[in-house]
Amino acid sequence: LSGQLAQAQKVQALGQLASGIAHDFNNVLQAVSGAALLIERRPGDEEKTRRLARTAINAATRGASITQRLLSFARRGELRTEAIATAELLDGVREVLAHTLGTLITVRTEAADGVPPVLADRGQLETALVNLGTNARDAMPNGGTLTFRAEAVRIAAGEASSADLAPSDYVRIDVSDTGSGMDAATLAKVTEPFFTTKPPGQGTGLGLPMVKEFADRCGGKLAIASAPGAGTTVSLWLRQAGAEAVPGRDDENGDARAGV
Ligand code: ADP
Repeated sequence: LSGQLAQAQKVQALGQLASGIAHDFNNVLQAVSGAALLIERRPGDEEKTRRLARTAINAATRGASITQRLLSFARRGELRTEAIATAELLDGVREVLAHTLGTLITVRTEAADGVPPVLADRGQLETALVNLGTNARDAMPNGGTLTFRAEAVRIAAGEASSADLAPSDYVRIDVSDTGSGMDAATLAKVTEPFFTTKPPGQGTGLGLPMVKEFADRCGGKLAIASAPGAGTTVSLWLRQAGAEAVPGRDDENGDARAGV
């Protein structure tokens, strides 16, 4: 019976996902066709045409990000872990975000010299960090600073239960913003699928659940510290490449979960 219930919940979740995406996509298509219609009706006004073309381009870019999210949701089953140079990774993410988050947001990286490489799926890790950056941007509508910081942390055997992680060597990537922050009630719900405080069409509520699932599957974890008005720090714990294997985990197919 519990299996059927879980199945029914999955079907319901998929239905919600599909209708959310259909809704988002409709908005995108309406923006593109609306702009094209206005251009068709007002030939000759070059200034206006350029503005409408920009609207259409922005909408299409948003459409691409919706399909990207859908793809990464569908593909989250496969995990190809490899050693990834942490400082270079964060620099790459900063580059991308500095171009996409707008001029009001300053993006910084602070990776201590010699911070070790992490063991993770590169594509999924980049997607996760970009996702966290986008959330930070949304929390800073009037601008602010987004900081990526990386630090090596060892969890010794005795500390394992308090850290909620198997004893091993980790790298903790902190993604901090100077935005609105969250109250305790919101914070308690943010990793539930489809929980969002954003207007319809702007939030799917799948960002943090996917980042959490990704971190768990890599043998790490997600931790979030936030308070209203004090900004948010999302910490992604990942195993160091070359760290001693966590018992019961299989890197070959990566389908085993960290010991929870
Ligand atoms: P979405 O971004 O689509 O809403 P997420 O799962 O990524 O979905 O986030 C869920 C909710 O968590 C957001 O709607 C927002 O309320 C809150 N949240 C996430 N990141 C932050 C942040 N950096 N600062 C403040 N609130 C955040």
